[in-house]
Amino acid sequence: MDAASMGADLERILYTEEQIRGRLDELAAEIATAYAGQPLVLVGVLKGAVMVMADLMRALPMSVPVDWMAVSSYGSGTKSSGVVRILKDLDTDITGTHVLIVEDIVDSGLTLSWIRANLESRSPLSVEICALLRKPAAAKVAIDVKWVGFDIPNEFVVGYGLDYDEAYRGLRQVGTLAAHVYT
Ligand code: IMP
Repeated sequence: MDAASMGADLERILYTEEQIRGRLDELAAEIATAYAGQPLVLVGVLKGAVMVMADLMRALPMSVPVDWMAVSSYGSGTKSSGVVRILKDLDTDITGTHVLIVEDIVDSGLTLSWIRANLESRSPLSVEICALLRKPAAAKVAIDVKWVGFDIPNEFVVGYGLDYDEAYRGLRQVGTLAAHVYT
């Protein structure tokens, strides 16, 4: 879906498809160099990371296995609670391999720091994070995100996999949601 289809629900576009694809190409080149010749699995966090994963894995110059986790961070609306429950675990054993978590956005950082600790307990060679977006002003925990697409203001965004109440994930761009939608 395009920005025009969102009408007044979209406040403004932050990043276009081209800008997102271009930045992911840059990150993929860095990631390929960092893990050259080493065992690596990409772990996507459902559902928001679907678009990032699809573009990042196609931008990588090598074949890398992909796995998925689904978690629910209790609470609804536009804020994360940090209390996490695994809805779908990995299908693969990550012992002895590098893990790169692929995420849509780091907001408070609570969900990702929980996932990272959980994966680190499974004896991988390393666990790093690649996130398309990060809201530095929203951080509640210090979390080292090795590859970040864009730092954004502390506003609620949708599109490119990111939803509000399951809507707008299919928006091609990343944009801010008009306040009237959630107030
Ligand atoms: P965190 O635990 O606060 O870092 O956020 C975890 C999850 O909340 C992200 O993976 C997203 O699914 C969701 N989230 C956080 N900020 C936004 C946003 O601005 N738009 C849509 N989803 C968001």
